Amino acid sequence: MKKLLELQNLDLQIEKFRARETEIPKQKNKFDIHRKRLADELKQSEDKFKGLQLEQRECESEVTAKQEEIKKKETALLAVKKNEEYQALLHEMEMHKKQIGVKEERILTIMEEMDNARTCFEEDKQRIAGEQAEIAAECDKIDAELAVAVSEREALEAKRGPLVEAIDPIHIRKYDRIRRAKKTGAALVPLQGESCSGCFMGITAQNVNQILGGEFLPCHHCGRLVYYAPRVEEETAEVSKGGL
Ligand SMILES: [Zn+2]
Repeated sequence: MKKLLELQNLDLQIEKFRARETEIPKQKNKFDIHRKRLADELKQSEDKFKGLQLEQRECESEVTAKQEEIKKKETALLAVKKNEEYQALLHEMEMHKKQIGVKEERILTIMEEMDNARTCFEEDKQRIAGEQAEIAAECDKIDAELAVAVSEREALEAKRGPLVEAIDPIHIRKYDRIRRAKKTGAALVPLQGESCSGCFMGITAQNVNQILGGEFLPCHHCGRLVYYAPRVEEETAEVSKGGL
């Protein structure tokens, strides 16, 4: 019976490692989401800078175009005969000059904004690289932890076979049936007062006596096998004394 408890102990440990093995990859998912968010943040910072760069180039080419227009109109002025036409051309040139002024002012603002955006982008790049490195280190730790959990579980599973062989198959069948029905947790539970410690329901006086006498009996309420812990300890002591 002591061996059956050892088996249960082993199975409960294996169960714990298996739970870790499903839990660990979930932590990595969280990190993946964080990584993606950081990459998006960096992209936004870069896009802002690039957007300003593009706008600056557009403003500059508009200024050049307007300046060329003005030159053309200056040449046209020389050929004009009528005063109204002359005035109209002057007016158009004036408009172009005003527009150039507006664009040039915008270019100055853009240059300032670009300075800020560049600084922000460089800072973001550094900060995000640092955070990404931290995440990568955490992920490596998680991978190592997972590898340990797997190898420890495999080591426990390797012990299981020989242990099962040392136990009466009738007991193994009972034990396996209860484990399958319960899915998780213990199949063997100690007697607690006159109750099953698995479901906390009372056990008949007759059965309590048998359990106290060293038997493993199923609880009528939950089906788990109930045992008397001090008896198992005695059994262990006898085994080690007898050198068995
Ligand atoms: Zn019970």
